[in-house]
Amino acid sequence: MTEPSVGSDSAGMETRIRFDEEAGQWVISGVKRYISNASKADVYIVWGVTNPNVPPQKGLTAVLIPAHAKGLTFPRLYDFAGRRGSIVGEVAMDEVRVPEENLLGDVNGGFNIMLSAFNFERVILGGSSLGVARAAFEIACQHAQSRVSFGQKLGQKQLIWDMIAQMSWKIDAAELLTHRAAKMYDSGIGGKDLMREASQAKLVATETAVFCADRTVQILGGDGVTRQYGKAEQLYRDARTLPIVGGTSEMCKYLIAAREMPSIRLNL
Ligand SMILES: Cc1cc2nc3c(=O)[nH]c(=O)nc-3n(C[C@H](O)[C@H](O)[C@H](O)COP(=O)(O)OP(=O)(O)OC[C@H]3O[C@@H](n4cnc5c(N)ncnc54)[C@H](O)[C@@H]3O)c2cc1C
Repeated sequence: MTEPSVGSDSAGMETRIRFDEEAGQWVISGVKRYISNASKADVYIVWGVTNPNVPPQKGLTAVLIPAHAKGLTFPRLYDFAGRRGSIVGEVAMDEVRVPEENLLGDVNGGFNIMLSAFNFERVILGGSSLGVARAAFEIACQHAQSRVSFGQKLGQKQLIWDMIAQMSWKIDAAELLTHRAAKMYDSGIGGKDLMREASQAKLVATETAVFCADRTVQILGGDGVTRQYGKAEQLYRDARTLPIVGGTSEMCKYLIAAREMPSIRLNL
């Protein structure tokens, strides 16, 4: 979905998809950026404009492009602060041709597929953020119970146990919201009916991961920012991406508020 000119505003994408009647093929041109598994995936789901004369919600289509397609290139891979095990890069399409059956869903029905994909991704990101938050929390609890400062364990100090308590309830809140969204997804609820719950889970879990990673570094002091000590600094870097991928925290807040106040149109 994401392109050089549009990220959150994905409906404003510039990639074009047209159907060549004579050849019976979809022809795709455009550039996508920040694409996970670029150059490694066997197949790419690509969204593009098929009807520029209607609102984007009614004029986007999704097609499948196999990795070997002529005209598909991967101009660059990005170097990120965190999540360094994941490969993310640019995907360029220069008049890429795929057969008619590579259409995903309906012509001009791509926007709804996008909504479903985001819902799924947000539930998954709830889970992966919980993993980051818990990993950090364990390190913080262990350190607070063992490190001695001013003659007492760190965890005995109110400023420290306040951080432990905050991490604890935030993690549980994130877990409960993620479970609710995942259960709804598993029971077949999707599209607009899952948007609020999936966004809440993603928002709370990703922000909790950032909070826990940050507070853990603080509790560890110098050890928290040292690569030699252990995982705290890695978790801190890994966590920061989470409120950005799969719809930023700001976009999640918009989707939640829009569902809560259906009678007005919120400014974006
Ligand atoms: C590691 C990684 C993997 C990714 N993988 C994929 C992938 O596989 N496929 C894919 O399509 N994309 C992928 N992305 C892209 C990701 O979805 C986008 O980065 C994200 O949607 C934000 O878009 P942007 O970076 O263009 O930021 P922008 O949309 O330019 O936003 C910049 C900032 O402005 C805020 N903002 C924007 N509009 C508003 C508004 N109206 N009101 C208030 N605030 C606003 C945003 O919340 C954000 O904080 C990936 C990104 C990363 C970092």
